[in-house]
Amino acid sequence: MRSPQGKFLSHLAIALVTALPVTAGLATTAPAHADTTVNKVVVIGLDGVMYKKIQEAKAPNLLKLAAEGTLGRTSIAPHITISGPSWSTVLTGVWDTKHGIKDNNVTTAPFAKYPTVFTRLEKAKPALRTESIATWPTIGIIAGAGDPHADVNVRSPQQPNDPTEAKIDAVTADSSAATIAKAGPDFLFTHLDQVDAAGHNHGGASAAYLAAVRSVDTQVGKIVAAVDARAKAQPKERWHILVTADHGHRPLGGHGGQSADETANFLIARGPAFKAGATNSSNSLVDITPTALDLLGVPLSPEFDGKSVAKTGSVS
Ligand SMILES: [Zn+2]
Repeated sequence: MRSPQGKFLSHLAIALVTALPVTAGLATTAPAHADTTVNKVVVIGLDGVMYKKIQEAKAPNLLKLAAEGTLGRTSIAPHITISGPSWSTVLTGVWDTKHGIKDNNVTTAPFAKYPTVFTRLEKAKPALRTESIATWPTIGIIAGAGDPHADVNVRSPQQPNDPTEAKIDAVTADSSAATIAKAGPDFLFTHLDQVDAAGHNHGGASAAYLAAVRSVDTQVGKIVAAVDARAKAQPKERWHILVTADHGHRPLGGHGGQSADETANFLIARGPAFKAGATNSSNSLVDITPTALDLLGVPLSPEFDGKSVAKTGSVS
């Protein structure tokens, strides 16, 4: 669920797009071989989405992505089914029992002990370009926590006359597609919120919720199209897409409890390091940070509760 911080933070987005250490870490390393491939990771976070509703809505882009990759479906119980705890788990690889975030009042303090994926990547490989582009402003707190943190940290600006959040999500998706095309970030996290808004306003069993799933699917399609176009134009880049949600919704709306709908989670993993057309009942949001580190050649921490779901192992 959204917090009221968006308005005053939105103007910061531009200021936070700082100069990037594109060449800083390369001076002492051997020049890359001309034929070396490089992995890229895009994580799409869909707030409040249940996979069974992706199926019911026949959302074409998400269903295609799942068919082309590995689809995990599992319950995240007893983890707290609230956005703050769950996106913190996505971005740290540890459950709420470790990072200690219990609600949406997210501060930077827990990430000193359990660093974000951005901090871990930037510390190990400062030359990597890491980005966060989000509709929910609290994501910007997580992406900006620690030192170093995400190179680019964008909170999408609030849009006028946008009760469904479809417009702000379109801005987030357009920004994500643009940076994939132009900058080719090594790691991008993007967050879309409109399905959670529909869940709160109309319930998880409503027609409006299904319509929001279809609408967010269109935005996912834009991001996937940008990835596929970039991969075609840059054949040495191996692009991977991970899609997950933070929690589901009760039939009449709302979350935070332990019902099957609220704890239902999915993880779509599509790209050359993932088995195509596979399903399993264990992969979930907690696996995203370990998988990203594995794909980008950074050793996994023994603290992680999740595992890499990549089949290729570490790349160096
Ligand atoms: Zn919510």
